Amino acid sequence: MIYQSTRDDNVTMKSANAIMQGLSVEGGLFAPTTIPKITTNDITKLLPLSYNQRAKKVLSMFLTDFTEQQLDHCVDSAYTEQKFKSNTITQLKKITSTASMLELWHGPTCAFKDMALQLLPYLLTTSAKITENKDEIIILVATSGDTGKAALEGFCDVDGTRIIVFYPVEGVSPMQKRQMTTQDGSNVNVCAINGNFDDAQTAVKLILTDDKLKHKLADNNQAFSSANSINWGRLVPQVVYYVSAYCDMVNSGEIELGEQINVVVPTGNFGNILASYYAKMMGVPISKLICASNKNNVLTDFINTGVYDREREFSPTISPSMDILISSNLERLLFHISNKDTEHIKSLYNDLAKEGKFQVSEDMKTAIKAHFYAGYCDDEQTKNTIKETFEKSSYLSDTHTAVAIKVYNDYLAKTSDDTKTIIASTANPYKFTTSVLSALEPVLVDDEYQQIERLNIISKLAVPIELSSLKEKSVRFNDTIDKNKIVEYVESML
Ligand SMILES: *Cc1c(COP(=O)(O)O)cnc(C)c1O
Repeated sequence: MIYQSTRDDNVTMKSANAIMQGLSVEGGLFAPTTIPKITTNDITKLLPLSYNQRAKKVLSMFLTDFTEQQLDHCVDSAYTEQKFKSNTITQLKKITSTASMLELWHGPTCAFKDMALQLLPYLLTTSAKITENKDEIIILVATSGDTGKAALEGFCDVDGTRIIVFYPVEGVSPMQKRQMTTQDGSNVNVCAINGNFDDAQTAVKLILTDDKLKHKLADNNQAFSSANSINWGRLVPQVVYYVSAYCDMVNSGEIELGEQINVVVPTGNFGNILASYYAKMMGVPISKLICASNKNNVLTDFINTGVYDREREFSPTISPSMDILISSNLERLLFHISNKDTEHIKSLYNDLAKEGKFQVSEDMKTAIKAHFYAGYCDDEQTKNTIKETFEKSSYLSDTHTAVAIKVYNDYLAKTSDDTKTIIASTANPYKFTTSVLSALEPVLVDDEYQQIERLNIISKLAVPIELSSLKEKSVRFNDTIDKNKIVEYVESML
């Protein structure tokens, strides 16, 4: 299988090279030129398999330059019962007559990012072997909170790698900040920036496409890569859980084999929902992909109007991992929807850089609308949804997942579509304790660990040891820099 840049047909490579490089030199993302197909017969064969076996099958269809042994090693090292608390890795919980929650947060950092970031270090080190690259790999990460910790945990003390994480100083929850600043490992670094996620992501993209810096690094036997969902190695593991969840829906009797389902995803950088689009394009019977946003609703407007306009106020919300106005992975969708019209994609992203917006053709808009539905909600609606879902369905959701539930409820009210639906549950509620607790009752104490105890009493949901044990850990990383100093900071680290 061949991968190519979304902005240049002449840039083609195998998956190992795409994973090593992260981002194409002219700023495009790497995407597969064809999407492998999965038939009903193939799905039948996946039904009795474990998560890991299904993962190997799906990954082998995309990562054709990896050997079977290499994929076995990657998958079995990443997805262990010990790290994910059960051999099902994910968990599916039915909450209403039509909706089931797909819990993707049972990994070590309590957010769905672990599904990809536990695997990525193995994919990356294997890619280095395949491409005979002996350089030290410097992983740059821009995070709105969850990616940072998941990447740190994934790459902690992985030989031949170093990782530097940038997070917005005001833009993460206290628990997210504590998770990152107390990180262990001799190859890790964490730095706060005075700026938002988009500032951090833009700086990282700039560094990754800087030719001069790249050569300087090469002389040092070093190379940059990315652990953000711009990297194909971050995205492809996410396709697996949609295929696997479909199998679980069949196995539990919730649907018949071949029956269509809808998928709802709380969306920021468009990585998770794009993975479900790939699953759909492979042939998994998925009808609507429902894109849920918070008040930073640039994607809602785009899907409904065909105009992507980032020139709007950035609103910090209680679902901070979705506080994003430049959704990188949308570019891969536009690439596929436009039938790989790289010239068009290039001009759209020129427009975005120059004018802060772009408009897709009427054909593309129609094609997008055929697959996607989009909606959004504000913080108050998010909190009301947490309370309502807990009272009606005894399901405690985090703030991001609540956005998805609210948008799904609105979709149901509008369409009466009773298709069985998977809602991606993306974080453990204790990662956002203050917001979740305040949705249920007035919060009376400031101390976060007392809030956790209170939320535990009300909800009976077990507190993950990974979060409760942070209380005893000391802070290792205190740097805060201006958003314009990211490039210099990275250079000083090399
Ligand atoms: C990252 C994240 C999201 C958004 O996912 P994207 O792939 O960036 O769209 C949603 N919820 C949580 C909890 C996250 O950490």
